[in-house]
Amino acid sequence: MSMEDLYQEIILDHYRKPHNRAPTLDDEDVHVHHSNPLCGDEMDLRIRVDDDGTLDQVVFDGEGCSISQASASAMTIAVAGRELKDALELAEDFRLMMHGEEPTRLDDLQDGIAFQGVARFPVRVKCALLGWMALRDAIETYERGASAHSVTYDD
Ligand code: ZN
Repeated sequence: MSMEDLYQEIILDHYRKPHNRAPTLDDEDVHVHHSNPLCGDEMDLRIRVDDDGTLDQVVFDGEGCSISQASASAMTIAVAGRELKDALELAEDFRLMMHGEEPTRLDDLQDGIAFQGVARFPVRVKCALLGWMALRDAIETYERGASAHSVTYDD
């Protein structure tokens, strides 16, 4: 099995059996909604932050292509339990990877690394980034003391 096949399997697995997919989150701190009209992807992301400033729980819900949903699923696992600043840095590492750079935190990205090949397909990059950018927005929304935000990527 080639690396590419393996990555494909990981993506399909997250799509078929998504992790942390839920329409609500008890005691949520922030809810953001992101959409990618180019592909028709919709993403609701909710986070709960622990008293010690770590991500207690991250759940997503939405509809769209397999890449967008699978990437969000992989993201929720990679960032759970991290300090907010650390999660933002990991999101940045993933973003740079989607723009063709070598990720510096291979182990921390966990299954997120399976999406590296998506960088070769510019039209799908926003799909893979949707969950991660929603996370970044949710953390930044939390840090400025708000509880909800909505973003549409339309360029
Ligand atoms: Zn998509």
